[in-house]
Formats: sequence, C-alpha cells, structure tokens
Amino acid sequence: MSHLLIVEDDELLRDGLCAQLTRAGHNVSSAVDGAQAQSMLETTRFDAVILDLGLPVIDGVAVLKWIRQRLAALPVLVLTARDGIEDRVQGLNAGADDYLTKPFDMAELLARLQAMLRRSRMPAFGGTLEVQGAANKRLRLDPNLPLGWLDDEPMELTRREWSLLSLLVGNLGQVVGREDVLAVWQSEPTETGTGASNALEVYVHRLRRKLQDSGLSIRNVRGLGYMLEIDPP
Ligand code: CA
Repeated sequence: MSHLLIVEDDELLRDGLCAQLTRAGHNVSSAVDGAQAQSMLETTRFDAVILDLGLPVIDGVAVLKWIRQRLAALPVLVLTARDGIEDRVQGLNAGADDYLTKPFDMAELLARLQAMLRRSRMPAFGGTLEVQGAANKRLRLDPNLPLGWLDDEPMELTRREWSLLSLLVGNLGQVVGREDVLAVWQSEPTETGTGASNALEVYVHRLRRKLQDSGLSIRNVRGLGYMLEIDPP
C-alpha cells in the first residue's frame, strides 16, 4: 500500500480520485491548494504525489519546483487541463515524472501511477546495477530482467530474489525497509512455496548463500530492515 497525496482544487475530480485510488488499495490524502500541499509534504512522508498544475494560492509548477528542491526522489504525476505543449514542457522541466492531460481515463492514471511507483523503488532504473565486493568480485544485475552475474558468472536468481537484491544494491549502505521490499513484491507474480510470513527472511538467507565469498554482506538492521554492505578488507 502506498501513501498518496492528491493536490487538486476541483472538488468533484478530487473526490473521484480519492475514491478510486482508495479502492485500488492506496492510502490517500488530499490537499485543495498548493500551500496546503506544501505544509502536508513538510510533515508527512508520501510515496507519490498527483499534482494539478492549475492551483490556487501557490501554483502547481511552483509546488513541483519546491518538491524537487526538498524531496528530490518523490515521484510526481502532473495533471494539467491546459493542453498546450508549453505547459507540458514547463511541467516536465520543473521535474514531473509523468503527466496526464485532463480529461483522462482513470485506468490510464492507475497504470501510470503503478509504473511510477515501481520505478521509484528501483533507484538505478534504466542502467545496470553494479557493485564491487571487498573480495574484488563484481556483482551486476540487469535492471529489467531477473538476471545477475557475479564476476561474469550468471547467478541463479528467482524474480523475487532479483528484485530484493536490486533494492539492496541500489541502496548500498542504506537500510531497505521490510515494507519497501514487500511493496515491490506485491506487484510481481507470486512464487510457490514462499507464502509464509517469514518469506523475506527466507529470501535474505538464500541471497546470503549466493553472495558467499563475494565480499558483500546483507546485514539485518533490527526493527528496520536489511542493508547491503561491502565487507571490510
Ligand atoms: Ca485546477
């Protein structure tokens, strides 16, 4: 479940978006103008923002620039009633991850939102993920397919192992939360024999075995999640 912020001054559209996105399983908050949006973003952690460009008090483009200065990685989907190409360019230049022109199809919005959320959980999306262990072994992961190599030797990875390892490599030296892993897994096909609540621990255990002698370790950060570290030399 993702926590979304919808910033839209049109009451009918705002209520419609809130209802549909709640039904789609998200935790939804809303703001009616740019100033309210900024004060909510200052106090609450959101996974993504759906932002109308034409807003009272503080304009949507100004809100977007503000977000980019403070919350660089926060995904933003821009909505614009203005159809002009200039407005789109302005929106994207100000740092929108994606945009839709009103009126839009709700299924289209949901699909774009899912794609945006998924991309945001893969920090190095688009390029090969790579890290060098202390044992001088190089771990590489394909950004889109469940493929990995340790010193150019193909690794046997299931899709879930690959997405977990991608998150860890993309956040090297930083904690990856349980809920972040589970959120990414949710959008993928289930794998058999792993329905137990300790599934994450099982996968971490498997990855540790596969990373043996690589000079890379997956550390358990109690109560928070897991972190990939390069072993001390
Ligand atoms: Ca508006």
